[in-house]
Amino acid sequence: MGVTVVGAGIVGLLTAWRLRREGHAVTLVAPDVGRDATYAAAGMLAPISEVQYGQDRLYPIMTASRAEYSEFLAELARAVDAPTGWRENGTILLAADRSDRDAVADLVGVQQAHGMEVEPMTSSVLRRREPALAPGVSKGWDVPSDHQVDPRLLTGALAEALAAPLDPAAFPEAGPAARQLRETVVALERDDDGAAGPAAPRYRLTLASGEELVDERVVLAPGLGYGRIAGIPRRHPLPLRPVHGDVLRLRVHSDQLAPGEEQLITATIRAMVRGRSVYLVPRGDGGIVVGASSREDGMAGTRAGAVQELLDDAATILPAVKDMELEEITTRARPGTPDDIPLLGALDDEPGVVVSTGYSRHGILLAPIGARLAAALVGPPRSDAPRAAELSAADAALLASMDPARATPDDPSVPSDPSEPHPVGAPDASGEPAAAGMSPGPTPVPPTPAQKG
Ligand SMILES: Cc1cc2nc3c(=O)[nH]c(=O)nc-3n(C[C@H](O)[C@H](O)[C@H](O)COP(=O)(O)OP(=O)(O)OC[C@H]3O[C@@H](n4cnc5c(N)ncnc54)[C@H](O)[C@@H]3O)c2cc1C
Repeated sequence: MGVTVVGAGIVGLLTAWRLRREGHAVTLVAPDVGRDATYAAAGMLAPISEVQYGQDRLYPIMTASRAEYSEFLAELARAVDAPTGWRENGTILLAADRSDRDAVADLVGVQQAHGMEVEPMTSSVLRRREPALAPGVSKGWDVPSDHQVDPRLLTGALAEALAAPLDPAAFPEAGPAARQLRETVVALERDDDGAAGPAAPRYRLTLASGEELVDERVVLAPGLGYGRIAGIPRRHPLPLRPVHGDVLRLRVHSDQLAPGEEQLITATIRAMVRGRSVYLVPRGDGGIVVGASSREDGMAGTRAGAVQELLDDAATILPAVKDMELEEITTRARPGTPDDIPLLGALDDEPGVVVSTGYSRHGILLAPIGARLAAALVGPPRSDAPRAAELSAADAALLASMDPARATPDDPSVPSDPSEPHPVGAPDASGEPAAAGMSPGPTPVPPTPAQKG
C-alpha cells in the first residue's frame, strides 16, 4: 500500500522506516531532513531521569519506547552501516547545594516509588566515577539504564536506510526504497476521483511547488508544522505550542584531558543548580552537549540569558566547562502539548490519515513506539482495513493515552461545539475551504512549569 509520510524529523523518518520495513511503498515529503526540533535534541533516552511530578500517564509510554530501542537500532544496523551515536554511558543525577539536594531527593523518591532503578552514590564512589566534577558536589544518584543516541547521526542513518537496497534475507517483507521529496505540504484533501470511489478514499497532498501527490494513506508527522497544513478536519484542534529550547555544544580541549583520557565526564550528568536544571551529555567524539532552556516566550532566536545560565550552571558542576570551546549555540522549538504526551491517532472519519506529532520533550526517546503504533493504524500493506482492532491491550492503552482527542471539555484548546467533524478538504464553519492559518494550528494554552529535555 502507498503511504505518504509528511515530515522528516525523528518521528517522520522512523515512521517511514517502519512502514517500509513492513512492506509499504513509502513517499517521504519534507523540506529538510532532521533540521527542526530533532536537530537541537541532546538525544537522551531517559525514561527515568526525565520523570516529572504528575506525569504518571507519560511514564509507561517512555518505558515502552525505551524497551524497543535496542531492537530498532539492531535492525537499523542490519540495513545500513552508519553511526547512530548510541552510547551506554548511563546517567548521574546531581544536586549543587543543600536545597537542590532536597529537590532531587524528592524526585528520586517518585522514581523509586514507580520501581525505577535509581541508586544513591556515596561521595567517594561519585568522585571515583567522575573526578572532574566540582569538589563541592557531593551527592549523586546513579541511573545506570538511561543512555543516549546522537539525533543528527540517527536521522542520517534513517534517511540512508530509507533509500538503501535491503537484503531480502534480513528484510523479507520490506517495501521498495522510499521516494524522498524535498518539499513542503501546504494542503491535504480527500480525493474521491479514484476508481474505488468514496469506499476506499485516497488523499491528495498539494505541495508548495504546486505539484500534487495522491496516496492511499497519509501519516502527518510535521512537528509544529501541523498547523500550517490546510484542509485538516477541525473537530479536535491540536493543543500544540512551540516550547523553545536553547542548547550548547562544547568541545573539550586536548590539554584539559589527562594522558589516556578521552572525556572529562563519562556519564550523562543531570543536575539541579540553584533550583534550575542543567544537563551535560558527553558524546563519543569528545563533545559535550549542554542544555537546555525551556521557554514559551515566542522568541525563535536564542535568548542570551539562557546561554549565560546554561554556562554558569554547567560550570558549577564541571568547572572545566569555562575552558572548553563553545562550538555551537542552537535554538529550536519543541512541538509541545499541555501534558507532554504525543498526539497520535487516526483522524475522525478519516482512518487513512494518521496524525503523529506533539512529542514535546521526548521525541527522540518516543519515536520507536510512535512509529510502530502509527504503522499499526495505517494497517497492513496489502489490505485496506486498518489494523487497530488487532492491537494488543497494552498497545491499545498506549494509543488511548496519546489520543489526539483526549483534551477534556474544560481544556481551553477544545472548541465549544466540537460536534461537527469536517471531512478532509471540506469547508470549515465559515463556509470557506479550510486554509492555511485557519486549520487547527498551535492553540494558546496555559504554560507548564519550566522543564528541560
Ligand atoms: C533543546 C532540545 C533538546 C531536546 N532533547 C531531547 C532529548 O534529549 N531526548 C528526547 O527524547 N527529546 C529531546 N528533545 C525533544 C525532541 O527533539 C522532539 O520531541 C522531536 O525532535 C520531535 O520530532 P518530530 O519529528 O516530531 O519534529 P521535528 O524534529 O520538529 O521535525 C518536523 C519535520 O516536519 C517537517 N515539516 C514541517 N511542516 C511540514 C510541511 N508542511 N510539509 C512537509 N514537512 C513539514 C520539518 O521540515 C521537519 O522535517 C529536545 C528538544 C529540544 C528543542
